[in-house]
Amino acid sequence: MPGPTTPDPRFDVDLFVIGAGSGGVRAARISAGYGARVMVAEEYRVGGTCVIRGCVPKKLLVYASRFADSFEDAEGFGWSVPPPSFDWPTLIAAKDKEIARLEEIYSRNLNKAGVTIVPERAELDGPNAVRLASGKRITAKTILIATGARPSMPVELDGYQHAISSNEAFDLKTLPKRIAIAGGGYIAVEFAGIFAGLGSEVTLVYRGPEILRPFDIDMKRGVAEAYQKRGIKILTNAAFERIETTGAGLKATLRSGGHLDVDQVMFAIGRKPNVAGLGLESAGVALGEDNAIIVDGYSRTNVPSIYAVGDVTNRVNLTPVAIREGHAFADTVFGDKPTRVDHANIPTAVFSTPEIGTVGMTEQDARRDLPVLHIFRTSFRPMAATLSGRDERVIMKLLVDGETDRVVGAHILGPDAGELAQLLGVLLVMGATKRDFDRTMALHPSAAEELVTMREPSERVIRSNESGGTS
Ligand code: FAD
Ligand code: NDP
Repeated sequence: MPGPTTPDPRFDVDLFVIGAGSGGVRAARISAGYGARVMVAEEYRVGGTCVIRGCVPKKLLVYASRFADSFEDAEGFGWSVPPPSFDWPTLIAAKDKEIARLEEIYSRNLNKAGVTIVPERAELDGPNAVRLASGKRITAKTILIATGARPSMPVELDGYQHAISSNEAFDLKTLPKRIAIAGGGYIAVEFAGIFAGLGSEVTLVYRGPEILRPFDIDMKRGVAEAYQKRGIKILTNAAFERIETTGAGLKATLRSGGHLDVDQVMFAIGRKPNVAGLGLESAGVALGEDNAIIVDGYSRTNVPSIYAVGDVTNRVNLTPVAIREGHAFADTVFGDKPTRVDHANIPTAVFSTPEIGTVGMTEQDARRDLPVLHIFRTSFRPMAATLSGRDERVIMKLLVDGETDRVVGAHILGPDAGELAQLLGVLLVMGATKRDFDRTMALHPSAAEELVTMREPSERVIRSNESGGTS
């Protein structure tokens, strides 16, 4: 079905997309649907980080790691489970097969939409052209940069080359018996849970006082406590001084003195926008302090013919956000429907075990920003734990603006927290009030019923002065 776009014969294509990841694929497909002639270049594998070495393989490994709990818990329900054994190469081969299947689907969908896939690197060559690795130059009316980000590595650290990032973690030949993971964000915490569940001895090495710094205080403390109970060592205010190989593996020396003997060291200390060597200077595209491409609400750069979406813009680095930005770009530029992406109230999960599901303000934010805050908090042992004997609590929390009664933050630590956060996201976007939660009937027996049965706030906070003090 031809869309509102009329191809412009002055250019080879109407849209050239650099990067076939979450944002680029969506933008290419929707733009082609509007009648644009679209090319997308991909230097690695179609699907991008999320599909090839991010969300999808990560979640498959998370599932694998959680069977350990299921085997343990089954006994309390009358099952006798023979000592389970785990084979890493079998898991990795199954994961690889699934990723190849998805890659194929992504390519097929692009082809079906009429998008031409160019399987090579592309760089800008002025405001209306790209140069392919093969040397070919292609002119485009509009260019979309959707090149994503790459893992930061501590290149100043002596011996950093002996360490891996999440990229390599997905393809290790063997499961490390002992692994040290540097970082305290999403990837470090998720991989700590994965490796521990699969049987590795895990040490998290984090530079600050508490892992998961930006998360709600009860969530981050809850994960840290649960991890320690599960045998994951967490070293805080800690950093590596050097990494050396030994006959038996790696020796990772800590700045505070002492060292860790491990088989792998993994760095998960953030990701950097993929802008190096992209030819941005040839078109005059402006970067921010973090080396991310600066864009306006419509994802347009300072150069009118060039847009950027996803991690390369370092707004909110999540797949659904990159997809939404890519779609909004296509609607705006080729669909005659100018669309801005709302970056408020984005639900997110940390797929640790136990898992965090969260949307909206943290308690720390709310205490700082709201004149009157009501905190509703509950912590309980889930029903399944009564028979399994598992010593882990679920935490649920609602933060309510005491002046408007609106729920401004919702946080869950426990099984399926991510699934619940998706629905809580709808409620926050709709502007649900605590009264809306109260008038909703509970669903029994469930853990989620606690969300509608918390009646009395565990704390009422009234900000006493402009400097943010509380009483
Ligand atoms: P990408 O998906 O990274 O795609 C960019 C593409 O551009 C890549 O394929 C790259 O090869 C290609 N490219 C780069 N430069 C060039 C060039 N010059 N020429 C041609 N091609 C080029 N997000 C979630 O929402 N949920 C999760 O559970 C989650 N888990 C994650 C787990 C890990 C381990 C990681 C690393 C990330 C995870 N993320 C998750 C984040 C998510 O993967 C990213 O936010 C998302 O992929 C960003 O999409 P994008 O389109 O901006 O970039
Ligand atoms: P994060 O930003 O989540 O965490 C980075 C961690 O590394 C923080 O603990 C940070 O500490 C620490 N750090 C930063 N710089 C240094 C340094 N120089 N030395 C030591 N430690 C350092 O990044 P990740 O790499 O974990 O993940 C990248 C992004 O990918 C995430 O932010 C998220 O957007 C996305 N992602 C999403 C997932 C999901 O949705 N479930 C899963 C995985 C990734 P500090 O806090 O003190 O700054």
